[in-house]
Amino acid sequence: MSASSLRYDWTREEIRAIHDASALELVYRAATIHRAHHDPREVQVCRLISIKTGGCPEDCGYCSQSARYATGVAAQPLMDKAEVIAIAERAKSNGVSRVCMGAAWRSVRDDAQFEAVLDLVRSVNALGVEVCCTLGMLTEAQARRLEEAGLYAYNHNLDTSREYYRQVTTTRSYDDRLETLANVRKTGVTLCAGGILGLGESVDDRIGLLHTLATMQPHPESVPVNILTRVPGTPLASQADVSLWETLRVIATARIIMPRSVIRLSAGRTQLSEEAQALCFLAGANSIFSSDAKMMLTKVSPTNDYDEDARLLAMLGLHPRSPFKEGCAVNAEPRAAATHA
Ligand code: SAM
Ligand code: SF4
Repeated sequence: MSASSLRYDWTREEIRAIHDASALELVYRAATIHRAHHDPREVQVCRLISIKTGGCPEDCGYCSQSARYATGVAAQPLMDKAEVIAIAERAKSNGVSRVCMGAAWRSVRDDAQFEAVLDLVRSVNALGVEVCCTLGMLTEAQARRLEEAGLYAYNHNLDTSREYYRQVTTTRSYDDRLETLANVRKTGVTLCAGGILGLGESVDDRIGLLHTLATMQPHPESVPVNILTRVPGTPLASQADVSLWETLRVIATARIIMPRSVIRLSAGRTQLSEEAQALCFLAGANSIFSSDAKMMLTKVSPTNDYDEDARLLAMLGLHPRSPFKEGCAVNAEPRAAATHA
């Protein structure tokens, strides 16, 4: 494949062959492709805000917010608007260019809470950062309302392969997930879809997930690579560690097969040393989540903080990326660009 071509017809065998190449050859190839499509000095810093925490009816086996598991995460009401805006403003002043608002919902309902989320989207969008939401399943009409409010991206992770999905979540299907992604794709909102390593899946399951993502046309503009945060009380609390080499292989393979997507090194980054993170950036990861609360999503999911990340990026000669520079083909324009002038 030339450094500049985009392909949507990858086979599982081709992806497996890329993934299984010798580690240094794989990283070299991914780094070369990364440089052809992205500024390798840029890393997008994102802030995830859990605007509605806990009490979720779904049974995702990894999740601290499922009401089915005793994880110590209490259900809370929708976060106050002033609090969300204050967090988003602090985030922006710390170099964050994407703010993602997450809700522990199975799906969005057309109710007062959705109206409140639309209001939050408008207000955070007015700060001039990319606004992302992850609210569960979504209809096309709801996706359009989010788009009208200024939503830039919608996150909906596939988590793993179609074959392994039922080992992780039984309260919805893989096709339900794909349907929401298709609904978002009918709008101008960009797609953020990825998975989790360490759920007990095989390498073939990782290839299956990458295959599903890389055969979407267009590719998701964002591909989060999460490493399982083992949450006591969940069915997946005792899963084995994921080695750096496994993580690196998935990042590098994603970079090679989806060259223009932003690869987001997301949950579980606190498990990686600075040297390990540097290797992930070299292999094509170009986004991280950071916070001033040492918390990715809930009190049981840690993340690195703004100051330590600023130090790490500076040491590596990297800098935070400005908003609205998505690499993918169809949705490259800023949302309502005039409001960000
Ligand atoms: N309820 C929404 C949904 O299911 O789409 C939002 C879910 S959560 C905020 C977003 C994503 O975080 C999940 O889809 C999952 O991929 C990831 N995640 C949640 N808990 C995790 C954990 N313990 N370890 C790694 N990733 C996790
Ligand atoms: Fe609910 Fe989302 Fe957690 Fe699943 S991942 S239990 S849908 S909050």
